Amino acid sequence: MHKNFRNVDKVVYGRGAFAQLDGILNEKRKDNDKFMLFIVDKYFEGKPLAAKVPVHPEDIVMYISVDEEEPTTDQIDYVRDTVKSSKGIPAGVIGIGGGSIMDIAKASSLMFTNEGSSQLYQGLNLIKNPGIYHVGIPTLAGTGAEVSITAVVTGPEKKLGLKCDWTPFNQIVLDPDIIKDAPRDQWFYTGMDTYIHCIESESGMYKNIFSTAYANQSLELCRDVFIREGCGQSDVNDEKLMVASLMGGLSLTYSEVGACHALSYGLSFVFGLRHGYANCLAFNHLEEFYGEAVGEFKAMVKKHNITLPQNLAKGWTEDEITQMTEVSYKLDHMWKQAIGLDWKEKWTLENIKDLFRRL
Ligand code: NAD
Ligand code: ZN
Repeated sequence: MHKNFRNVDKVVYGRGAFAQLDGILNEKRKDNDKFMLFIVDKYFEGKPLAAKVPVHPEDIVMYISVDEEEPTTDQIDYVRDTVKSSKGIPAGVIGIGGGSIMDIAKASSLMFTNEGSSQLYQGLNLIKNPGIYHVGIPTLAGTGAEVSITAVVTGPEKKLGLKCDWTPFNQIVLDPDIIKDAPRDQWFYTGMDTYIHCIESESGMYKNIFSTAYANQSLELCRDVFIREGCGQSDVNDEKLMVASLMGGLSLTYSEVGACHALSYGLSFVFGLRHGYANCLAFNHLEEFYGEAVGEFKAMVKKHNITLPQNLAKGWTEDEITQMTEVSYKLDHMWKQAIGLDWKEKWTLENIKDLFRRL
């Protein structure tokens, strides 16, 4: 069976596009209990971007910090329960932030119309009712969360997305002005998420012409941004990285991520490491899966003076390695992509542990 999925409904892209947000939302303001819920990365509280958010008197603005941990099911339930008990169901949810905030917005939009904890819905097509209108506005480029069909959250047992036809945003606003002040390290780690998405997408069993076309174009843009002459943070490269992120996300939708993401999810689950950073730690040692791309990645790391710690595994206990391995092993679709449908016959928990021990 071929995948059959929904895409984002509407996309506005370009410098200054954020100014169109009020007009876009005005068409939707009469829905449900007639107020908008803005979920904004706490980093922007008191910063110029916050003053530009088109908040009307009836709206709610929640500033959420994503510094301590990646989005959790408890956090999603809290957003839904607090808003619902104070004002009801919003006309729409607008997420303004990196992948973490966009995933919180996506997951919350689903939970306003579905009973119980979001933990119950971690997986494919478990959501029962369509969610509410939701808008994504990335402040970092790379995760592809702005276009993907999943809202990744960590529950008590697993890091796994709420994945269904109603997850993708109804509208995204891609404004390169908003990402221009991202700190250099974060710019690099989140940007590398796109690079790694594309390499994984085009080197596994689910690859196809559709996913590879997006991956190739996205990789070309990534090379302009991270390795070729003129690379680095600049206006034109911000424009390129936003498109690379979108295309990388679309490539994944048609294909899959692979071994690097399977390891990265384990690292994030056990040590709370940020997604882009955890990917970089893992990708750095995955030559046997991704060959020359790992060399290119290392050149990008060097070019931007990024320091990736070595010999991390020496400081880990056997229990921690086992726990990461168990989280990783459950990501069947990623290992299938990397190794093949029969991966469990070729690959054991011990092989995954060995990969972690290399880090
Ligand atoms: P993030 O959203 O976790 O943010 C990382 C840090 O950067 C935070 O401290 C944040 O406050 C800060 N930040 C955000 N924008 C900034 C800006 N413009 N200037 C300064 N600081 C800024 O980072 P991310 O890499 O975009 O997202 C990672 C998350 O995305 C993870 O939770 C991961 O699971 C998720 N993800 C989701 C998908 C998907 O398809 N849904 C895909 C990949 C990753
Ligand atoms: Zn990723």
